[in-house]
Amino acid sequence: MSKKKVAKKKTTKKITTKKIAKKKAPKKRTKKKAFRKVTKKSTKKNVIRKKVNKQKDLLQDSIIELIRQTSTILPGDIQKVILEALEREKEGTTAKYAMSIIDANIKLAKSKSQPMCQDTGTILFFISHPAEFSELAFMKTANKAVVLATKKGYLRQNSVDTLTGANTTMNLGPGHPSFHFHEHKKKTIEVRLMLKGGGCENVGAQYALPNVSLDAGRDLDGVRKVILDAIIKAQGKGCGPGVLGICIGGDRGAGYIDSKEQLLRHLDDSSPNNTLADLERDIVNTANKLGIGPMGFGGKTTLLACKIGVLNRLPASYFVSISYMCWAYRRQGITLGSHNKISKWLY
Ligand code: SF4
Repeated sequence: MSKKKVAKKKTTKKITTKKIAKKKAPKKRTKKKAFRKVTKKSTKKNVIRKKVNKQKDLLQDSIIELIRQTSTILPGDIQKVILEALEREKEGTTAKYAMSIIDANIKLAKSKSQPMCQDTGTILFFISHPAEFSELAFMKTANKAVVLATKKGYLRQNSVDTLTGANTTMNLGPGHPSFHFHEHKKKTIEVRLMLKGGGCENVGAQYALPNVSLDAGRDLDGVRKVILDAIIKAQGKGCGPGVLGICIGGDRGAGYIDSKEQLLRHLDDSSPNNTLADLERDIVNTANKLGIGPMGFGGKTTLLACKIGVLNRLPASYFVSISYMCWAYRRQGITLGSHNKISKWLY
């Protein structure tokens, strides 16, 4: 082969390699681009994941603070009626002494940030939320918050296996805590918490009217009779002076839940239904004339307040469900603002 031909062949080879190189180059760029795209996507995902985790952490912190405040500080409306009761009781009486111990207990719990009673109660959450809300996600975070609050000492390890009596779950288990969700039209999330002691829960009662032994018929007079019967039966138990949450009507389950929800009302309000508002006042006045008094020691204050609600019922049933709350009336609430931080205290 002549030198020229060889050179030509070499040139052709060079061109071919260049061409191939040219063709391959865009492939490299595409790979890089794809890699960059994937990295960008995963970075975005990581940012979103971090944001979600941060929001979960903030929700957990908000719930822990809600538990701490509920367990250790009585809201203003409750402190006010307790101070009024302390003023009302006569100097030198056991009732006055009992009320002053209660008052001192409340102040000590607040100053030391410690539970105001050794029984930190059943943990009841009432959540009002907008449509786009995950109940499961909330419960998961709230459960974690309950465990942490228990470790911090704001809650006693208070939940036992009913059949074995074992207490190993840091306040978690079937029915514990108790969650009640309600969808509302507002855009915000409101979380209310009630810590309801066992002693006062034990003196709650449910009556089916008519009740022959009390001569209580299916009317408001019958309702009044059974409520007063429950107050008399509770004397000396349930750590009075207390507050009654009552539901007239409903079925047995709905009635008890509504009676507890009545305890979420502000103590200085009265029912929007005039008949029930009158009955609420009448029950408090009558109970305070019974002479049962604080802790059942006698005195002028048996009840601090009474809240009554009503639900429809079947023609065949007429229930009156009564929930009793002791003086350690631990309930508080928060509105969650941006990023699940507490934006407002509800009591
Ligand atoms: S009834 Fe209330 S005050 Fe009495 S022991 Fe139970 S939680 Fe405490």
